[in-house]
Amino acid sequence: MAKVGQKDTAPEMRVRRALWAAGHRYRLHVAALPGRPDIVFPKAKIAVFVHGCFWHRHDCRKANMRPASNSRYWAEKLERNVARDQKAVAELRGMGWTSITVWECESASVATSRVGEALDSGKR
Ligand SMILES: [Zn+2]
Repeated sequence: MAKVGQKDTAPEMRVRRALWAAGHRYRLHVAALPGRPDIVFPKAKIAVFVHGCFWHRHDCRKANMRPASNSRYWAEKLERNVARDQKAVAELRGMGWTSITVWECESASVATSRVGEALDSGKR
């Protein structure tokens, strides 16, 4: 299972390839922004986080595969991840940025169209 904060995870690579193929150009892992978003569109001020369902507690089946042992340890750890995610999104919003969360369980094409819509609405 991928570690929290690991770069270049498989779901992220899928989304990056799909965005690139759709003609979107972006920056990666911008440490200067809250939460260090995985994919960033600086002009449109859009930050994309590609989250693993388990690590960021997505409300889906994949996320519900919880480890049986050390369940309290995991619950607390995941709780901290979610709190950190929410803080980053709030800070970005305060800076005039839009955050988009792409989940590991989403198809790359769905994720790409969501990002594309946000980019389009920013241009209007
Ligand atoms: Zn999910």
